[in-house]
Amino acid sequence: MTRIYSPFVVAKFGGTSVADFDAMNRSASIVLADQQVRVVVLSASSGVTNLLVSLSEGLTAQDRIDKIETLRTLTYGILSSLKKPDAVRLSVDALLGNISALAEQAAVTASPSLSDELVSHGELLSSQLFTAILREREANALWLDAREVIRTDANFGCAEPDVAMIAQQVQTRLLPHLETAIVVTQGFIGSDAEGHTTTLGRGGSDYTASLIGEALNARRVDIWTDVAGIYTTDPRIVPQAQRIGQLSFSEASDMAAYGAKVLHPATLMPAMRKNIPVFVGSSKNPDAGGTLVCRETDNPSGYRALAVRRKQTLVKCRRPHAQPAVDFNARIFSLLAEHNLQAELVSTSESGIAWILDATCATSGDDSMLLESLQTKLAAHCQLEIESGLALMTLVGHQLSQSESICRDVFTPLEGYAVRMICHGAGENNLSVLLPGDSADSAVKMLHRQLFEQPEVQRYAS
Ligand code: ASP
Ligand code: MG
Repeated sequence: MTRIYSPFVVAKFGGTSVADFDAMNRSASIVLADQQVRVVVLSASSGVTNLLVSLSEGLTAQDRIDKIETLRTLTYGILSSLKKPDAVRLSVDALLGNISALAEQAAVTASPSLSDELVSHGELLSSQLFTAILREREANALWLDAREVIRTDANFGCAEPDVAMIAQQVQTRLLPHLETAIVVTQGFIGSDAEGHTTTLGRGGSDYTASLIGEALNARRVDIWTDVAGIYTTDPRIVPQAQRIGQLSFSEASDMAAYGAKVLHPATLMPAMRKNIPVFVGSSKNPDAGGTLVCRETDNPSGYRALAVRRKQTLVKCRRPHAQPAVDFNARIFSLLAEHNLQAELVSTSESGIAWILDATCATSGDDSMLLESLQTKLAAHCQLEIESGLALMTLVGHQLSQSESICRDVFTPLEGYAVRMICHGAGENNLSVLLPGDSADSAVKMLHRQLFEQPEVQRYAS
């Protein structure tokens, strides 16, 4: 498919890239170094969203005052480093004032819609300050309220974007400015049809950048974070992890879905729809390079990465002897659908069916309540066994389902581990293993050593 790219690049900066004045300045230099960067999407400064979330849950008066003071100190730390702080002081004070009022309201009656309204202030603040920095550096920067363009449904906390509406809004409200200005906007936040503030789920700023990139038919989406790209596994677990130069869209989205923390899992969908390359790099060290995620990579073969997803719950349902398996399976899946839950890693046998629930998934809401209500319904149909605190380790690679050496490569190093479940073959690019949570790190180290620290193993997968 050939496509007409617009000349514009969308650059997104995560929380650590806008953590304080110096970080914002480094990020501003990245924006100004590339003429094509015309849309800047920002996260809240690190720690701010967590702080706002706690305010939205309703705190005591003293806790509220302490948290707001912390936020004020951070915000004023940036503001007071500006040459002309007065240009933005009014907007910043108004936002801090809103936060106090909304937090007080949340202490009386918390609600998901109030929470989104409150939490959105993190991005509103960082984007105001960043715009001021760009202006001080003589750029023609324009602050845009993302809620004007990112239209969503009213599922507060994890809203679904309306792609057609976003395309329309971006064309009319954002595109016309790009010839002359750099537009600075917020990640993560949007609005429903009635104008209420919504959010796209934690970490959703990446998703915003990609949605805007899609609507603009952007040349590229750059995700600036605190690591110089995507690694073969989390370098905090395995210091020997290596950066992956290029990844295909499907490999990268598998990695995100299976727990690699680099990109929000939904981020790549809009980019894939329009074949827009996504670059991931470090704003602390932009010259260190990064990872390019695109449709086709230079190196199509081999094992790519190991991802881990923690807090997994294994649910096993034993089928009553009298019930035919066909009816039983249908019944279980429809109960899951009623609870809006996706069973993953499903495994069936003569005696029943087992699957995992992902307790880290934002859409499952209050996990324990949900599980309780599901449990009651399931228990009426079968004998249940539930085990939580497990970890899902997933190997991502190119066409793993075709590899003849995968069993030896993966399972030999896992000798001695109590593997609870295995999933292979449903997807082309991954093989997942469910393990006790406390053995996940050592299993990752072991498997990484075998698959990524010995070059000859890569050959088997080719
Ligand atoms: N500030 C939001 C969060 O911390 C969104 C983001 O950073 O992507 O979840
Ligand atoms: Mg993030």
